[in-house]
Amino acid sequence: MTTENALNDAQELWRKTTSILKCKVSENTYNQWFDVILPLAVDETALRLGVSDEFFGEWLTDNFGDLLTAALREASGSDLKFTIEPGHCKPAVETPPPALPAKQPKQSRPAAGELQMTAPNCNSRYTFDNFVVGEENRYAFSAAQTAATSPGTFNPLYIYGGTGLGKTHLMQAVANYVKAMNPNAVVRYTTCEGFLNAYVDSLRNKTSAEFRDYYRNVDLFLVDDVHHLGGKEQLQEEFFNTFNAIYNAGKQIMMTSDKQPSEIKGLEARLVSRFESGVAAQITEPSFETRLAILRMKQEGHAFKLPDELLVFIAERISSHIRALEGARMRLVAFASAVGDSVPLTTEMASNLLGDMIDNEAEKNRVSIDRILDTVATHFNIKVHDITGSKRPKNIAEPRMVAMYLSRALTDESLKDIGLAFGGRNHTTVIHAIKQVETDCKTDEELKRTVTALKRKLHARV
Ligand code: ADP
Ligand code: MG
Repeated sequence: MTTENALNDAQELWRKTTSILKCKVSENTYNQWFDVILPLAVDETALRLGVSDEFFGEWLTDNFGDLLTAALREASGSDLKFTIEPGHCKPAVETPPPALPAKQPKQSRPAAGELQMTAPNCNSRYTFDNFVVGEENRYAFSAAQTAATSPGTFNPLYIYGGTGLGKTHLMQAVANYVKAMNPNAVVRYTTCEGFLNAYVDSLRNKTSAEFRDYYRNVDLFLVDDVHHLGGKEQLQEEFFNTFNAIYNAGKQIMMTSDKQPSEIKGLEARLVSRFESGVAAQITEPSFETRLAILRMKQEGHAFKLPDELLVFIAERISSHIRALEGARMRLVAFASAVGDSVPLTTEMASNLLGDMIDNEAEKNRVSIDRILDTVATHFNIKVHDITGSKRPKNIAEPRMVAMYLSRALTDESLKDIGLAFGGRNHTTVIHAIKQVETDCKTDEELKRTVTALKRKLHARV
């Protein structure tokens, strides 16, 4: 078979497969996960599918692998398998997916401003519309949309990540969306603490039956900050039973937490395995672009607007969590509206006004060679002393060069000191490594992605 034939056949087979898939998943899920796949080639044994990155591929295989295999079998009439090849972006994959509502035909959903229904205990401003999507939260966002539009597909859905990164916002967006679409849906949003208080009250007031009825007969159960379950045995027992009742009824469960289930101290193994049985998506710290987009969005609808250069100033200097970004913006707005137009706010004044916030950030974000070594070693799944040691196995050469390159790019250390930190190597070795990485990045897309991801992890601006 020629390459061209293989491609044409792959396209034809993929067309048939997707027409089957379209009947099995919601439009939103289809758009998020299948529409962005590129058929590459097909032979007697497998259809090769191109996807944007490894993470996407793993997610697809874990969550839709069986569905895809079945559809492929039906379309091909044979036992054909599929294989995934990262690094093939359709342009749409590169840009963050638009907020869910924008994709829907106008009449099928109310626009953000028209949303009449807010789920009980939820903030009406927490919607998909108001959530800025970047690389750091794209999977969590997609998964949340799927939970909202195809309940039960990702069950339970577990979103985890540091504080102030948008977990509660996403969770309440799901609650609000479901309530707006179906006002009769029974949507229960609670924090873990709220659940604890209600449970304790029910014991005291002998209203356990009501408590159970209230939390178990639901269409959608959302529990914020489940890491607070850790160490509370009796509460875990009740939660376990609640979870099972809802899950067995085929209803959607969504949880948020600051860490993965297995890392929550004092969480019973049976709950860990329940929490891990569905889909988990992490949210990591926002990139500069996401931070700026959030700041711009947050000031829409406010009468008083800061000039864009000040938003850029804030986004550049405050990179930890989004609450801090918003705090910084509010501080500048408060000052500017107090002094009025007579004293235009300069970046120098902003720097003074935000002094303490910026200093904290600077300290937190200081990148050291040690941190670079740790981060690179973890990324490549090797030990720090492999990088700094004298051995030269092939799999260490690249991580070592990358770590040297990052040390030069992100710290103020001299070439000599970098060489010393890498097991007493000569500064010319460091220069060589830096040049090599710079040259390779021009042709090696994967290396370039790795370097960008590492920089991001180290909180550097990329
Ligand atoms: P968490 O629950 O992870 O601690 P929150 O959901 O409470 O964080 O988010 C903190 C604040 O940041 C909220 O005001 C929220 O609207 C805002 N926020 C977080 N992420 C985003 C985002 N991607 N787009 C818009 N606003 C965001
Ligand atoms: Mg929260």
